[in-house]
Amino acid sequence: MERFKNIPLHEIVGRIVAIGEKKFRAQQIISWVYDKRVAAFDEMRNISGELKEKLKQNFLLGKLNVTTIIESKYGDAVKFGFETADGDYIIESVLLIDGDRRTICLSSQLGCGLGCVFCETGKMGLIRNLTQEEIVGQFIGVNDYLVSKGDKLITNIVFMGMGEALSNFENFLNSLAIFMHEDIYNIGGRRITVSTAGVVPSIERLLKEKLNIGLAISLNSYSNELRDQLMPINKKYPIESVMAIARRYAAESGRTVTFEYVIIDGKTNTPEALQALQKYCSGFDCKINLIPLNPFAGGNLPGPIDSSLEKFADALSRMGITATIRKSRGQDIWGACGQLAGKRISR
Ligand code: SF4
Repeated sequence: MERFKNIPLHEIVGRIVAIGEKKFRAQQIISWVYDKRVAAFDEMRNISGELKEKLKQNFLLGKLNVTTIIESKYGDAVKFGFETADGDYIIESVLLIDGDRRTICLSSQLGCGLGCVFCETGKMGLIRNLTQEEIVGQFIGVNDYLVSKGDKLITNIVFMGMGEALSNFENFLNSLAIFMHEDIYNIGGRRITVSTAGVVPSIERLLKEKLNIGLAISLNSYSNELRDQLMPINKKYPIESVMAIARRYAAESGRTVTFEYVIIDGKTNTPEALQALQKYCSGFDCKINLIPLNPFAGGNLPGPIDSSLEKFADALSRMGITATIRKSRGQDIWGACGQLAGKRISR
């Protein structure tokens, strides 16, 4: 039987017509599943008993089981564990709370095949892509939590959790269709960002889709020699090719491209780094987001002290490069960048 939340949005009408129902029923069912977040067809009140039976015979509907909810003591982040639809693994997602913003940091793969050395997820290797149901399911689960707290619903989305979203392109795109649809969640491209390690053909494909979403590229180093060591993908797509596609993305989408840059003291915040970043970033709309390296189990690279971070940000600003320092929300709940890892459930 087909899992309803794995059906791409544009194919739902066809599925409903195929079981002998009128087209308009599709919109009602979509509204119950996504807006009202019901867990079963029986909860759909304006749907006849006969149609409910047909739906139950043809489709599976459910929600991801929530395994853990850990709230940061600072009140600015909540980490969630969800069981995968097959029940074998835990998917981790994080809610970031900042003023009026409720941002969900979504995972898109179980593990990741790109193996960046500073990343906990990368240490797992790629287990599999998450399905559309598992990507949208994280969003639904976090909205359930927000409603239970009497809070507002998710306003912003970042694909910066486990995995490389652009390497799970179909499910990423189909999930975006649900997030962005004006009759469903209506989250515009300006409130969505996808992070990538710099897989150049995937960024080209994203450009073709003309979604106008934000692009954040994990740069993390100023030289190919060092980036090769930190991010093995650099051997395939070196910094020059990443910069060329970033310039194209900024020009064709009209969006500022963000470069995520992890500060590893003495390695990525040197005078040579400043010089190289000036060369890369001049003449196009981009900014650098400095990320203090987070500690994680097994990691042995040195994180920066606050003063050296600020010094580096100031030096970039003096060169005319917009630089921000990312507040590492949720560090106390192990939900900050590079710290998510989906564990296998032992039974
Ligand atoms: S940083 Fe991103 S691309 Fe690199 S291993 Fe981790 S999840 Fe994969």
